Amino acid sequence: MEKDCIFCQIIQGKRPADFLYQDESLVVFRDIYPHAPVHLLIVPRRHIRSINEVTAQDGEIISLMILTGRKMAKQQGVSDTGYKLLFNVERGGGQVIFHVHLHLSGGWR
Ligand code: AMP
Ligand code: ZN
Repeated sequence: MEKDCIFCQIIQGKRPADFLYQDESLVVFRDIYPHAPVHLLIVPRRHIRSINEVTAQDGEIISLMILTGRKMAKQQGVSDTGYKLLFNVERGGGQVIFHVHLHLSGGWR
């Protein structure tokens, strides 16, 4: 856990969030500034800075994040209309929180 990381603080319960799902390896909460009717963040409990830092040993958590994104899309009712699963990578890629996370956005018609 990184003391100054906003997502580590959310995961540790030190900062509020609107959680929709939690298990032993990841959490899902609503993005505070949604860009879509449904905009969730899928976040591993373990602090990894960005996709650039992911190693072969992290393959399982990355695939779990994607499968959880798909499950949450279904639960949120956007599965059939369609949705995006997106990683922003480092500053030039639009990443502003340096704790890896997958955006799930959808709900457009
Ligand atoms: P990124 O640009 O990929 O780093 O995305 C970070 C996302 O985190 C942005 O869409 C922010 O709106 C969202 N965000 C920042 N702070 C919070 C927070 N405290 N709770 C929920 N979402 C947040
Ligand atoms: Zn963190």
